[in-house]
Amino acid sequence: MKTYRITVLKGDGIGPEIVDETIKVLDKTAEKHGFALEYTYALLGGAAIEATGVPLPEETVAACKAADSVLLGAVGGPKWDNQPGSNRPEAGLLGIRKALGLYANLRPAVIFPPLRNASPLKPEVIGESLDIMVVRELTGGIYFGDRGTQEKDGVKSAYDTERYSEPEVERIARIAFDMAKKRNHKLCSVDKANVLDSSRLWRATVNRIAKEYPEVVVSHLYVDNCAMQLVRDPAQFDVIVTSNMFGDILSDEASMISGSIGMLASASLGGSGFGLYEPIHGSAPDIAGQDAANPLATILSGAMLLRYSLDEPQAAESIEAAAAKALTKARTKDIYTPDCGAELVGCARMGDIVAELV
Ligand code: NAD
Repeated sequence: MKTYRITVLKGDGIGPEIVDETIKVLDKTAEKHGFALEYTYALLGGAAIEATGVPLPEETVAACKAADSVLLGAVGGPKWDNQPGSNRPEAGLLGIRKALGLYANLRPAVIFPPLRNASPLKPEVIGESLDIMVVRELTGGIYFGDRGTQEKDGVKSAYDTERYSEPEVERIARIAFDMAKKRNHKLCSVDKANVLDSSRLWRATVNRIAKEYPEVVVSHLYVDNCAMQLVRDPAQFDVIVTSNMFGDILSDEASMISGSIGMLASASLGGSGFGLYEPIHGSAPDIAGQDAANPLATILSGAMLLRYSLDEPQAAESIEAAAAKALTKARTKDIYTPDCGAELVGCARMGDIVAELV
């Protein structure tokens, strides 16, 4: 039987609870689809600080590199808020992404029909359904460019530099085109090519790579227009590809259209299918240990892991379908309303229900 290796980083707060439910669902899915999953557990964040004094022990990096993919809960909590910046749990998170060379961040913004009312947008704006994938470049651009602060004649000034090379744009563009090919064949590249040189290179490079993907329809939008279009007519989008900073902002905007932080999955990919999968929310210390967390964002991240790292798309689909069906039967507190027609359940029961429906 085909066996895949997953390194699991449960992290802090609700991390262990939501990851346990995800493993429950992954195991059931693997059994049904005829493959096996082998887990290695490693420490990250506050849990690692407690055990080893640092948020990202070397053994954790080694365990992640030895696996086919990585599943992460969330890190952080008030207990470690007074640690120096470089030794905070979140430093472990940035460190592991860097150590694994993850240059593409994938953030789906999906509205499950039973949760249409949770969206801040009107139903007529959302339309029948919504399924956008934002592909954000993660290791280049202005967040990593040359920067500085100077003072001259008593006046301070500061600068940051946006710089992209052709190979950096090519590799993120290929990820986005490949994704569009597997979805609805539409790719929108977002830049500010009316003002920025780096954006003009970005656009020219995307257009060159587009010739390799004749089946994908490419469009370009300036970032300010894209921000408007996302709330005016989000259904026009399939895959959006953009730079690190624009992607940071647009992926948050797109994800909020879905209305619930407990539902949002993400993936960060490096080369050759390797990836790290995690919910976009944090460790929610306010509800940790209460069996109140919504495990669906992590469960859906597990589905992305099956699709993008293990190339098991049917297994991924069965988790997504099970999650959508589960919402009609049961909901955790964050997405429950008395008139929703579903039962109010805890984190563990929600995991059980999704596993049963897989
Ligand atoms: P948060 O996402 O942890 O929580 C924000 C709010 O959403 C809270 O009220 C929380 O209860 C709720 N929430 C989050 N996830 C939920 C879920 N699955 N089910 C139900 N409710 C959920 O953000 P925060 O409060 O700003 O941060 C808490 C800690 O998490 C901090 O230490 C922060 O640094 C860390 N953090 C970690 C990550 C990560 O690991 N990727 C991301 C963001 C924040």
